[in-house]
Amino acid sequence: MPEAIDSNRRGFLTRLSKPVSALSSEAEPTPRVAARPPQAVDEALFTRLCDGCGKCADACPNSIVHIRQNLARIDMDYNECSLCQECTKVCPTGALNVNVKAHIDLVPSFSQGCDNYLQLACNLCQSSCKLAAIHIEEDELPRLDTELCNGCGQCQSSCYVNAISMVAS
Ligand code: SF4
Ligand code: SF4
Ligand code: SF4
Repeated sequence: MPEAIDSNRRGFLTRLSKPVSALSSEAEPTPRVAARPPQAVDEALFTRLCDGCGKCADACPNSIVHIRQNLARIDMDYNECSLCQECTKVCPTGALNVNVKAHIDLVPSFSQGCDNYLQLACNLCQSSCKLAAIHIEEDELPRLDTELCNGCGQCQSSCYVNAISMVAS
């Protein structure tokens, strides 16, 4: 089993695709232009490899993958990512790669419509998060640990008053 590629190391894949002379100044991962499926390679390499075939969009059981400007992106307005890897399995170009640690570059943002903030005790988003990335205190907005969050959107789906939006991280 190959070692998982942490998102901080995605730049490695980019460097593999560049001439040696162009490598020295590109140690950092390329910022995402849009949210990509969870096992997308580094953005610079992704935009070269993804040809917009749409196989990932067809495979996604949650219908959150869409093709825009000939590239796959995630839209979480109506559903979450279950991290099932079906999109990765069908990608024919390597733009989605099983060795990339699953992570979507989105995080939950909590609005003041939150019941807990309005002194109506609630902790549904906290209990829905499998990574324990949300912390609730009495009468406060939920707090997010961005180091733990993988952008899956389960918390957004759990909030019955729509107080959570997934925004760029
Ligand atoms: S991991 Fe599964 S739910 Fe998430 S985008 Fe890919 S196919 Fe959809
Ligand atoms: S589930 Fe919604 S209402 Fe409940 S604490 Fe989380 S953000 Fe607030
Ligand atoms: S997006 Fe997923 S990992 Fe992040 S806080 Fe919400 S449920 Fe937890």
